Amino acid sequence: MKAQGKHTPYFELVDAQAQAGCPICRLVYKSCDRFLDAILYEATLDPRVRLDLKHSHGFCPEHVEMMRSKPGRALGSALIYRDALRMLTEALDATAVARPNLWQRLRKHDRRADELEPSRPCPACKIKTSAAADYIGLLLAHLGDETLHAAYTAGDGLCLPHLRQAVAGIHDDETLRLLVEPQVARYQQMLTDLDEYIRKRDHRFRGEKMGPEGDVWLRVMNTITGGAGLGLSAKHGGRRSKDIGSGLAEL
Ligand SMILES: [Zn+2]
Ligand SMILES: [Zn+2]
Repeated sequence: MKAQGKHTPYFELVDAQAQAGCPICRLVYKSCDRFLDAILYEATLDPRVRLDLKHSHGFCPEHVEMMRSKPGRALGSALIYRDALRMLTEALDATAVARPNLWQRLRKHDRRADELEPSRPCPACKIKTSAAADYIGLLLAHLGDETLHAAYTAGDGLCLPHLRQAVAGIHDDETLRLLVEPQVARYQQMLTDLDEYIRKRDHRFRGEKMGPEGDVWLRVMNTITGGAGLGLSAKHGGRRSKDIGSGLAEL
């Protein structure tokens, strides 16, 4: 992705500001989702991709969870995990033959246990890292644009991990101000909501109905931890947005 020019990723970035949760988390999730689709529908036949997936032992827990909820996942998963399991079976078998006291040594983190470790990273995590860097770069490059900045100011804002990454990538005061001022306002609103929520939980005020602060305890966790489709504003609410995932992992 190029950092200049208002092409599709720019408009994706503008649109994502108006949706539930951190826009970077959402766009990164979509990138990983497209990558997993490509693996299922095309790349399981590509020997290089198969080799990578064999040595990474498939995917990390986060991306296994995404894969589990995909339609059409069964055959591709069977092919990927058969390669990994064959390799693990061979490694374990060879280790057992060479060392009769295998289990004792595995418990002691003997060097031979390394043979059961993946030797390559989860390939979807590589996409996750590069997509986050690309979209944050794009956000910073165009944050002075009226359309993007207005959308960013009105939106849910960034989760803390992506805010930290964005701040670290800024080299001028004006961009820092454009990024941080709306975020401070969002944090202040959230603090007001938290105060109000905690006050209403006091038995003396139990009769008062909860307002938009009713799920702020969820939204504050989402803000600090991040996660695609996990709303940060009272407008979107703190529960997972219906358009992210299959619903299997919903709260
Ligand atoms: Zn995020
Ligand atoms: Zn992963």
